[in-house]
Amino acid sequence: MENNQRICYRCLTYEMAENKDGKFDNLRALINNIPDDKKTAAGLYNERLAACKSCDYLSDGMCRACGCYVELRAARNFKDCPHGKW
Ligand code: SF4
Repeated sequence: MENNQRICYRCLTYEMAENKDGKFDNLRALINNIPDDKKTAAGLYNERLAACKSCDYLSDGMCRACGCYVELRAARNFKDCPHGKW
């Protein structure tokens, strides 16, 4: 069977076409349900994701160093980058 799946090395999940069919709805729900006291402030969240987007470990929205979806990891204020980038 032919595998037509494309890997994006600079994409976050919200940027990927697959998101349109609801593939990442559960991820969105997890992010939205993080309690306020554990949620990263918006400005810092965007800085974290910018670092991920320029990182060689990012692949299809996932960090190949830790196995997390970076949008979820970055949204939790008690998490950090496994390579010290944020
Ligand atoms: S969490 Fe760190 S190592 Fe992983 S993709 Fe983001 S910047 Fe890179």
